[in-house]
Amino acid sequence: MATADPQVGRPDGARVVAMLRKLAELSSDEAGAQRVAWTDVWQKARAFLREQLRGLPVTIQTDAAGNQWARLPGGGGGVVIIGSHLDSVPDGGWLDGAYGVMCAVEVVRTLAARGPLPCTLAFGHSLFGSSAVAGTLNVAEVRGLADARGLRLGDVVAGHGVDLGRLDEARQEIRGARAYLEAHIEQGPVLDREGLPLSAVSGTVGVERHRVIFCGQTAHSGATPMDMRRDAFLAAAVTALAVRESAVRHRGVGTVGAAWLRPGIVTAVAGETAILVDQRHPDAGALATMLGEARRASEEAARAEGCAVRWEPVFRTHPQPFADELVDVMREACTELTGQERVLPSWALHDATPMAGAVPTAMLFTSSTRGISHAREEDTPEEHLRLGVEAFYRAVCRVIARSSGSDE
Ligand SMILES: [Zn+2]
Repeated sequence: MATADPQVGRPDGARVVAMLRKLAELSSDEAGAQRVAWTDVWQKARAFLREQLRGLPVTIQTDAAGNQWARLPGGGGGVVIIGSHLDSVPDGGWLDGAYGVMCAVEVVRTLAARGPLPCTLAFGHSLFGSSAVAGTLNVAEVRGLADARGLRLGDVVAGHGVDLGRLDEARQEIRGARAYLEAHIEQGPVLDREGLPLSAVSGTVGVERHRVIFCGQTAHSGATPMDMRRDAFLAAAVTALAVRESAVRHRGVGTVGAAWLRPGIVTAVAGETAILVDQRHPDAGALATMLGEARRASEEAARAEGCAVRWEPVFRTHPQPFADELVDVMREACTELTGQERVLPSWALHDATPMAGAVPTAMLFTSSTRGISHAREEDTPEEHLRLGVEAFYRAVCRVIARSSGSDE
């Protein structure tokens, strides 16, 4: 059946776009994509993915972290892993993660039709899962994490057959892995601004994420004179401005994306305010400087308001450069199709971030229209999506040829 198709042996970008549109239809509402991990919609998306793999000569299995793996067995040249994540943020976009997953499906389909491979091609997905696979997930730390409804992560994943105590077993999946390759949308404006459809990615930036809690005194907002207040929110607000200034000064990024005020009513000065601070930079030294500046600013702001302040780490990861030789393969594949050489750092984290600590890794980006992601408006010109499929396919073929020692 496959041999009658003149396109056999070539990836079909239009088919990837069609799969993505179908998936969006299945898993979105008016507010955007709702493939939030460990929910029913996410399970529906996983079932859709299994459907796409049906009929291919792959073995499908779910590992101890709940990752789905499809393996196309080949010769003894080791394992090349491709993938991304199928889940989305709430009210997310149609391409984040899903694009890399469907690219991987198309590569598996194409290579399966071409005949025996010199090495095994493994296709897997999910960020929680990739941390487990790479061995960087701190089980004790995540077990007690609770979502907005107060459900604990350990219980939520157990409902999907994942036992956090056995998570380590997921590490077996990358035994013998020679490479991990991922396609993803940029989620930022650089390629769109430069009119470029694609680029290779040099690595992911370092991240410092903290919860900062200011404690002052709750007091009546009418009866308390301005010079007698200990306003925890004002100390937090001044800190937020300092986070921005520091990021601008060091050419990094800094965000206060959430704030909670207590008691959080208009008739009271906030006695307590917690904010979440996220700082990122490709250079570890610059990131440490940004963190130090934000801490000092928070201490000064707290002192000025008569408040106490404490910092609690939420998440941190150091800058993770990708493997030079694989970045070169990606760069060449992208340059062949765009005529322009471009390599960008990724300011977002990806499955590739934890994977790069365990396996030589590289990524490619397609443009993101107006740089918008994690939102319903997330989009990429179809032509760029199709070019990305072709570039990703070429890169995977070359890495497979290399890992088996043959020259293609
Ligand atoms: Zn993503």
